[in-house]
Amino acid sequence: MNTNKLNTSLEFIKGIGKIRSKLIRDELKINTCQQMLYSFPFRYIDRSKFFKISEIKNEMIHVQIKGVFKDLKLVKFSNKYRLEGKLYDGYNYMTINWFKGLSWVEKSIELNKEYVLFGRLSWFNNKPNMVHPEFERMNSIVKKGFVKIKPVYHSTEKLINHGITNNFFIKIIKNIFSFVEDELNENLNKEINEKYNFYSTRKSLINIHFPIDFNHLEIAKKKIIFEEFFFNQLRFNLVKINRKRINPGYYFPSISNKFKTFFDSKLNFDLTNSQKKVLKEIREDFSSKKQMNRLLQGDVGSGKTIVAIMSVIIAVENNFQSCIVAPTEILAQQHFSSFINYLSDININVKILTGSTTKLQRNLILSDLIIGEIDVLIGTHALFEDDVRFKNLGYVVIDEQHKFGVKQRSKMWKKNNPPPHVLIMTATPIPRTLTMSIYGDLDISIIDEMPPGRKDIVTVHRKDSNRLKVFAFLKDQIKSGRQVYIVYPLIEESKKMDLKFLEDGYESLLRDFPRDKYQIGVLHGKMKNNDKDYEMKRFIVGKTNILISTTVIEVGVNVPNASVMIIESAERFGLSQMHQLRGRVGRGSYESYCILMTKDNLSNDAQTRINAMTETNNGFKISEIDLKLRGPGDVLGTRQSGDLDFKLGDIVNDVDVFNEAFDEVKKVISSDPDLINISNNNIKSYLVNNSNNKSWNIIG
Ligand code: ADP
Ligand code: MG
Repeated sequence: MNTNKLNTSLEFIKGIGKIRSKLIRDELKINTCQQMLYSFPFRYIDRSKFFKISEIKNEMIHVQIKGVFKDLKLVKFSNKYRLEGKLYDGYNYMTINWFKGLSWVEKSIELNKEYVLFGRLSWFNNKPNMVHPEFERMNSIVKKGFVKIKPVYHSTEKLINHGITNNFFIKIIKNIFSFVEDELNENLNKEINEKYNFYSTRKSLINIHFPIDFNHLEIAKKKIIFEEFFFNQLRFNLVKINRKRINPGYYFPSISNKFKTFFDSKLNFDLTNSQKKVLKEIREDFSSKKQMNRLLQGDVGSGKTIVAIMSVIIAVENNFQSCIVAPTEILAQQHFSSFINYLSDININVKILTGSTTKLQRNLILSDLIIGEIDVLIGTHALFEDDVRFKNLGYVVIDEQHKFGVKQRSKMWKKNNPPPHVLIMTATPIPRTLTMSIYGDLDISIIDEMPPGRKDIVTVHRKDSNRLKVFAFLKDQIKSGRQVYIVYPLIEESKKMDLKFLEDGYESLLRDFPRDKYQIGVLHGKMKNNDKDYEMKRFIVGKTNILISTTVIEVGVNVPNASVMIIESAERFGLSQMHQLRGRVGRGSYESYCILMTKDNLSNDAQTRINAMTETNNGFKISEIDLKLRGPGDVLGTRQSGDLDFKLGDIVNDVDVFNEAFDEVKKVISSDPDLINISNNNIKSYLVNNSNNKSWNIIG
């Protein structure tokens, strides 16, 4: 869509003005005509039907009736007045009340003239009545043309108090339509529109705001949803192909001694087929001479680390440095020990750099790094710092991407020119449509099987009333040498509460697990890094029997000897989060358990989450359910939900439209990647005119 009129500030639209446009901007972040037209009604009221008073039922929310006022009078109640009208529909009477604007209403209504009333129902003495309904003379409605389906827009109390009501929005959207009329261009090409029987963009927009009927509304919505998905995927895929065209990639063709020695003598298990497949994909990228940008999704414990290690060996053998970025100190440490364990024998120099590295060490590392003495640098976001400079960085692995943002990713890009290959690893499996709509510019690899011999984690739901039995079970496990995690909820709104849960739990735990018999470690977010590390290490080496913590242990920690994960107040946890926590156990060969402790009475949602956990161990299934329960914004967390800007499209319910849109994107891209065909003019001009979109600007 085009230019000036659509980008005009609301201020200049008839009926709005400076003050109201500012209010709308402040309250709803809507500034231009285009933004207003794309702020769609969130629901519709069916005004095509008139009800008789006798037809009104309890479950109805709004009704529309017509009739004449037979009486209108002020009634005194507790020192105040209300205006009471008696509306007669030809058969029955209904009471209509006003508590505000009494004299205005009294003046406006003429007895014995036909009115249409529309409003929310309330009940008194088993009889329906209405308070402050909308009312209008029948003949004036007939003159104006009757609106059958009324859109309802988001508003706020502040706006309503300033007269910016739903009816106001309806009026200004009409004004905007007549203002931008000649600029409402088509966004798609003819072929697509004909294939799917779409309305034009213009007709669709009009019908979403002011549908002729519900059928028109559905058709119109589908078109706009299609457009949303189409342009989202088109942008991503254009970024992807252009990046491949522009960015040469480092060429790592050879696999020689180190890799072979590693494979023959250090790797003490067979790779799963998924791991092999992913390694093959990475090796293909490494020898493609194009920069790799790959997302590796795999459930917790599916063995992503070894894939990272093996691909790092390839980079090093081709004389390039690598680095691994982890979201927490603990995880960086853990990667460091795995890497050292696997790589020191084959003469690869691995170092770690985090926030707690001393200045002296840091300086040493930095100077070794720039002369190429260090082959692999592992660390936290400390690696993003500008003074962390490599001699020839060829490969970056980012673990647990969802903790970092796109901006941070780009920092690592800039550490060499051309940019290094990038592998992003995430243990949060998300449904395909969601992956595509936020990581659409990346190639995707998936590990969808667990290493052999891994047993499902036995997951059970226990209520507080069963706590003693649970404790007895823990004692058994500890007696046979296993370790236990107990996790308490983190209450975002109240950091104090968060600790209280944990502290209370700790106190009561001590009664059953006295200190002279059991070693209990405590870990929470407010501890200093050194103390956290200390506790974590004690648990890793097996000195602690029970580690109680908030969700700080969520990400990636690997303690194969731990066999029980207790999630306290599990009803307070999100599904994906519980699944992540469960993944902390079952990492060794022991039968492992996840016990979800809850209070006795659960909400339906909480019960659904708990059931999902006890029924499946599959992260992809869990995330599908999570997505249905919470919607994409919450599943992704606040940081990334902003990346997902579909207004009408719903990647859960509109999967079919998503797939159709994606198919069409593939077709457009393969036949006309530069959008130079005349037939793709509309598509191109939409992209050009809407290029301030985040995804369009993704690095590259
Ligand atoms: P994640 O994908 O969560 O990062 P890890 O890479 O930490 O998982 O792997 C979990 C555990 O499984 C590690 O102890 C690792 O050594 C082991 N592992 C990985 N791949 C295999 C395999 N193919 N066979 C057996 N064990 C494996
Ligand atoms: Mg991991």
